[in-house]
Amino acid sequence: MKDSARILSENKIRLTPQRLAVYKIMNDKKGHSTAEEIYEKVRESFPAISLATVYSILELFQEKDLVRQIRIEFHKSRFEVRIDDHHHFFCNECKQVFDVDMPCCSALEEGAVDGNRITHFHGYFYGVCKECAKRK
Ligand SMILES: [Zn+2]
Ligand SMILES: [Zn+2]
Repeated sequence: MKDSARILSENKIRLTPQRLAVYKIMNDKKGHSTAEEIYEKVRESFPAISLATVYSILELFQEKDLVRQIRIEFHKSRFEVRIDDHHHFFCNECKQVFDVDMPCCSALEEGAVDGNRITHFHGYFYGVCKECAKRK
């Protein structure tokens, strides 16, 4: 796996310790974190950093296509370093978000739906995850 500093400089992002820390947290964890979660973690090494700074770093990463934002819950943005097209499943019980890799459907193979060209796609699924279902 490429190290975080290299990924940032390859994407022409000027390295600052804070940017590097934010990316590293996201890259180590994978998964889907809220800005607040990233902020809490990055504060362990940079106690003076503000949530606004974390948001602006995430915005920069998004512009450079290094992270993606997902809004599977209406009022909550989550960010992830996985940037290929994939869907998400939200568990109503444990509130976790899981990646969903789905087989290609005919619309995606054609790259068009109803004659409209698709540039990207994103499905949200809601329900009860395997682990929560087992516990019941
Ligand atoms: Zn669950
Ligand atoms: Zn994902």
